[in-house]
Amino acid sequence: MLPRFAVLSTAAIIGLAPLVTPVHATAHRPSCGRAGTDAAVRSPVEIDRSAACRRAVPGLVIHYPRNVDGEILFQDRAPIGGRPSEHDDIRFVVDDKRARPYITLGGERYDLSNVHFHGHAEHKFAGEPFAPVEAHLVHEKTSGERGYAVLSVLLDQRKDGRPSEHDRLLTSPPALGVSRKVQNIHLWDLLPTGRTTFRYTGSLTTPDEEGTYFQPVNWVVFGQRAKAGREGIRTFRSLWPTGEGNSRQLQSNTPPPNISTH
Ligand SMILES: [Zn+2]
Repeated sequence: MLPRFAVLSTAAIIGLAPLVTPVHATAHRPSCGRAGTDAAVRSPVEIDRSAACRRAVPGLVIHYPRNVDGEILFQDRAPIGGRPSEHDDIRFVVDDKRARPYITLGGERYDLSNVHFHGHAEHKFAGEPFAPVEAHLVHEKTSGERGYAVLSVLLDQRKDGRPSEHDRLLTSPPALGVSRKVQNIHLWDLLPTGRTTFRYTGSLTTPDEEGTYFQPVNWVVFGQRAKAGREGIRTFRSLWPTGEGNSRQLQSNTPPPNISTH
């Protein structure tokens, strides 16, 4: 039987709070029971909780400082100007000299490059409705070949309507193409309290300058939704009043990706 959890001590790193998930698989991988692939597929995908492979996954350790400063940008991508288009997004870009937020995945370091949002959500759990908003915490590999690890957090509206840390990024967006400074964003409060994740290898969901949806991307989709207030969700969704907003539609892949959980 594979070890399910390992204690990784980063307590000596002041101001950082680690999230520890199961260690990297070092031995035999149990069969996933489906004809899937571990190679990179197109994202986003639908996730069937009951069909996910229960196997050891690369250890994820989150090294986020308690809070960070940065700026919120309403990113204007081609076609520039006019009404918000499908590839535009609201993003929080860390600009803080004190401490760099990063994660390690399977021992490899990925630095947080931005937090951005899609409405409605891009990933979907089978049998469950689309969440109104999905947050992507995008991390870029710091050594070797280009690569990404994205923490995906589906957001529901809080029943009591009160704001959460997400609302600090979603309400009062700057105009398209404009940024404004924001201080003391609590990155940990953007994550759900439940630590179950679903992993697969996919692609970015927005194209780069050449029109390519970059692969590979290590997707880490939290199984539990986080919350945002009524105002944050309403404000963000109203920026794209019609159609699919700024989310890429679910991709059909043959073979489908192996999706692992723990
Ligand atoms: Zn995204």
